Amino acid sequence: MTDYLTRLFIDGSWQDADSGETFAVLNPADGSELARVADADARDMTRAIDGAERAQIGWAATPALERSRILRRAAEIGRADIDRLARVMTAEHGKPIAQSIGELNYGFDFIDWFAEEARRTYGTTVPSTGPDKRIVAIRQAAGVSVAITPWNFPSLQILRKLGAALAAGCSMVVKPAALTPISALEIGRFFAEAGLPDGVLQIVLSSRASRVSATIMADSRVRVLSFTGSTEVGKILMREGAATMKRLALELGGHAPFIVFDDADVEHALDQLVAVKMRNMGQTCVSANRIFVQRSIAPEFTRRLVERLSSMKVGFGHEDGVEVGPLIEAAAVAKVEAHVADAVAGGAGVATGGKRPEHSALANGHFYEPTVLTGVTDDMLVARDETFGPVAPIFEFDTEEEVVARANNSPYGLAAYFFTRDVNRVVRVSESLQYGTVGANDGSISAVQAPFGGVKESGIGREGGHWGMEEYLDTKYISLAGL
Ligand code: ADP
Repeated sequence: MTDYLTRLFIDGSWQDADSGETFAVLNPADGSELARVADADARDMTRAIDGAERAQIGWAATPALERSRILRRAAEIGRADIDRLARVMTAEHGKPIAQSIGELNYGFDFIDWFAEEARRTYGTTVPSTGPDKRIVAIRQAAGVSVAITPWNFPSLQILRKLGAALAAGCSMVVKPAALTPISALEIGRFFAEAGLPDGVLQIVLSSRASRVSATIMADSRVRVLSFTGSTEVGKILMREGAATMKRLALELGGHAPFIVFDDADVEHALDQLVAVKMRNMGQTCVSANRIFVQRSIAPEFTRRLVERLSSMKVGFGHEDGVEVGPLIEAAAVAKVEAHVADAVAGGAGVATGGKRPEHSALANGHFYEPTVLTGVTDDMLVARDETFGPVAPIFEFDTEEEVVARANNSPYGLAAYFFTRDVNRVVRVSESLQYGTVGANDGSISAVQAPFGGVKESGIGREGGHWGMEEYLDTKYISLAGL
């Protein structure tokens, strides 16, 4: 039996919930119970915010170089332990080990990036109106911050927010998803070992998300909330945040179009599509959800996509060669099944997959076969709602103008991809797509130095690059007079 971390991380120590209650963490590949972890309620959350507030001033006053060193040390300690951390993640999430390692490395890269940015929170001086005055603008830590994160990238979603917050001088309370809490606790372990002062990072697990988040949102000491999750919950938090005028950074749902024009490099487009569709079993907010293929190349493109997806190995994430693990929980499989059933009822064809794997070894896990749907139309569920699973629906189109309009016909605006060799079209379509992130001949848009985020109902704010720091910094104008 592996020794998993199971308790809340508050004020630098591992603590039980006040109530003594716990909840179970399950392995989605076989349904087994991995551990029972502390289940916080409002009292524990208040205790965590108390500690974060106590730690805040000292951390903001710590020289940037020292904050930077601690961040870098944490990333180093994490990297040295990456194989074990990846096994923990695969056990509670299901993703193939190679993807767990990839996610962790990407998360550590964020910590390194923000360790550098910590040293570059520059202020400005502006020419004043008279010789006896100076105008100075400084950047200061915004105060106590909170991260509420989802299960799809159990470490990355936290590290990306935490790196920026700590670099800016903010303390942070993390409320991770209840489905993947152990990877979150591991972050507490390596930051503590790196010398992060007690209380600067608090990790509070809870199965009662709305109850503990109501405590967070009502507390005026919390100045910044960074949330990644559904648009539905993002809207609730935005309403609740109004009471204390919190600054909100919201990374919400997406419904990414992936457009392949008839002049595209098809082989390259296929490589990118398979990666961006199947990574994390399709459970990402930037997954290709609506695959628009120009009519003349659609049959050939579909045939080659089917060839690739049908040969992917489905199974337990810790086994060699597995490319597709289980979905996170039974409800996720049920949603995929509902989307596929709706498409089929509307006349779509199933070119491959369309069901759970029949292998008996996989019977207790939440597995679903990589699936390609053909003849999909804009009135089907897959065209409107995030599937969050390994389903590739193919929509055919005739003209550029038509496909751009159809791609933009969504309340979401997170990521979009298109493939063409026409340089003029690259510029036109990049500028016309109403999305926060556009991949022009690119499906691999993740980069620590880039501004990632959405428009429309996909959210507010940007993570990554120097933009990522903005959420955690206030600008203070100091008017110096009488000189
Ligand atoms: P996902 O679809 O990615 O699971 P959710 O928005 O349901 O997205 O969950 C993302 C995070 O928000 C998780 O940490 C979850 O516990 C939390 N959460 C879920 N419901 C609420 C709520 N009503 N209020 C605050 N946080 C919530």
